[in-house]
Amino acid sequence: MQTSEKQDITADIPAILSQYPVCQYAVLRPQEIPFSEKVRHICRTDCERYARSWSCPPAVGEVKACRERCLDYEHVLVFTTVAEVADAQVMTETLATRAGHEEVARALKGEFEGRGYRCLLLSTESCQICETCAYPNPCRHPDRAIPCVESYGILVTEIAENCGIEFYSDSHTVTWFGLLFYAWENGHNPPPGSYTM
Ligand code: SF4
Repeated sequence: MQTSEKQDITADIPAILSQYPVCQYAVLRPQEIPFSEKVRHICRTDCERYARSWSCPPAVGEVKACRERCLDYEHVLVFTTVAEVADAQVMTETLATRAGHEEVARALKGEFEGRGYRCLLLSTESCQICETCAYPNPCRHPDRAIPCVESYGILVTEIAENCGIEFYSDSHTVTWFGLLFYAWENGHNPPPGSYTM
């Protein structure tokens, strides 16, 4: 439900997140998010999704443009979900758990938008909604597709380290990251803080 009345999302964040299987989270300023051309270099040289997905480069734009897009928001909610798999080395099994994380990510975006915030949502890894991405033809689900965090040149490991968020990773555990940038159009400024659920 959209509202034009200013609401304190900071006070609501613990209650909102308690409804979802979020493992850890932190609230930062977009200026605290580290961007690097090195990440883009890895996309270009080491990732098979490069130039094959709307959620990846070059479709998302240059790193500088991605950073400017993120800086247009007041805060960013960094959050993780954790999935259990039989064998984390089996990429198809690992990637299959992304859908659950994205359901949570979309729901959180809906919660923020419902309180009158505009949002930009990023998620770990390339979009997997379609078996084969329509790129370079128009995206089939632009309302559901979520750009990849790394595609923006963002250093997720550095964010995790700075926020005290852990990368739970072993042969049976996968940690998924989400970044929800948000801004209240009328200048609402909740103070940044860091929390663990
Ligand atoms: S929804 Fe489909 S077409 Fe759009 S980015 Fe994802 S995989 Fe590609």
